[in-house]
Amino acid sequence: MPVNLLDFDTHSLGSWFAGQGEKPFRARQVMRWVHRAGVSEIEQMTDLSKTLRARLAADCVIGAPGVLSDSTAPDGTRKWLLDVGARNGIETVFIPETNRGTLCISSQVGCALECAFCSTGRQGFNRNLTAGEIIGQLWHANRALGADLMAGRRVVTNVVMMGMGEPLANFDAVVTAMRVMLDDHAYGMSRRRVTLSTSGMVPWIDRLRETLPVSLAISLHAPNDELRDRLVPINRKWPLEQLLAACRRYIEGAAAAGDADDEDDAPVEAFQKVKWQRAGSPRDFVTFEYVMLRDVNDRPEHAEQLVDLIGDLPCKFNLIPFNPFPDAGFERSTQDAVLRFQARLIEAGFVTTVRKTRGQEIDGACGQLAGQVQDRTRRAIKREGAANAA
Ligand code: SAH
Ligand code: SF4
Repeated sequence: MPVNLLDFDTHSLGSWFAGQGEKPFRARQVMRWVHRAGVSEIEQMTDLSKTLRARLAADCVIGAPGVLSDSTAPDGTRKWLLDVGARNGIETVFIPETNRGTLCISSQVGCALECAFCSTGRQGFNRNLTAGEIIGQLWHANRALGADLMAGRRVVTNVVMMGMGEPLANFDAVVTAMRVMLDDHAYGMSRRRVTLSTSGMVPWIDRLRETLPVSLAISLHAPNDELRDRLVPINRKWPLEQLLAACRRYIEGAAAAGDADDEDDAPVEAFQKVKWQRAGSPRDFVTFEYVMLRDVNDRPEHAEQLVDLIGDLPCKFNLIPFNPFPDAGFERSTQDAVLRFQARLIEAGFVTTVRKTRGQEIDGACGQLAGQVQDRTRRAIKREGAANAA
């Protein structure tokens, strides 16, 4: 098996070079070629000697997943189905906006966690992606979108780990890939522009805080354990109290880590005065994602419970209108219910946005990514069994 250069961060590539009897600083050169220049062939790395290029070409490849399909919605949202072998495909979505471009990246083939309202969860699970398959999605998107980091032409300004899979269930590979996103020899993104979304794997939230405190989003979706147990089953293992305590630790840890980069990525803060700004911690917060399910979690009493539950935890809310998929068994909240819910949270002092639905025509919206999963959990069989028993 050839070595895939996309599997490395600068540090591990340096060690690999050292093991080959090469100078470790070659790693920085190679990282720049692969990720900033976006080359696909070692031959293109013209500042390496011909001998080194020949040696590398014999042992290594730049191996990103191939494209199975490529579709663009009328709103410009673009989705790729990428080939990760053995009839498995993962999805990556690019969402262009006026002043930013967000890439939504997958971390697993399917997902094992079975949240009730999620198409990926419905598909079952096959395997974790490798670091190369994760960063390969950004590498591919940059090339497909005509980015040129060498010339300062950045198209993907933000990355969200919100595609298929639970990123914290694939911790090491996800962290390696995110290191490459932040590395100045590669994509050079600020840690605030890389967001990891989790359904709430508490011990790994702590590990992330200690390892690489990027922006954190939590899929909350319910204001009490009873409802959350149903919607997000991982809650039975790590209930709300533990989850929110981990969020507090995360914010403290992230604040201590500081940030050299002073750009502000959240224009919404400019016009909404928020509790935690008054509390003197202007930059670090978690984002709570809350999928709006009609008559399930969108009623005024849910908003009240949420206000009490969150208290003074530094956060923002992002309400996501439910995106349907076949046999989902849920409906999207009415516009009225969403606006009422939002108004209550804002009144309580929380910055609260409603996520625009993008790319629905190409099944590219939140929760619609089904990819192509050779399920190994026998989920469909279990589901049928349960239906027959009922
Ligand atoms: N596994 C991670 C990240 C992927 S999902 C997580 O659960 O956080 C990104 C967001 O979309 C999550 O908040 C998820 O709960 C939400 N989501 C899932 N299904 C959805 C649907 N059908 N409609 C709208 N949002 C959905
Ligand atoms: Fe997995 Fe996230 Fe979907 Fe839940 S919402 S099933 S954790 S991808």
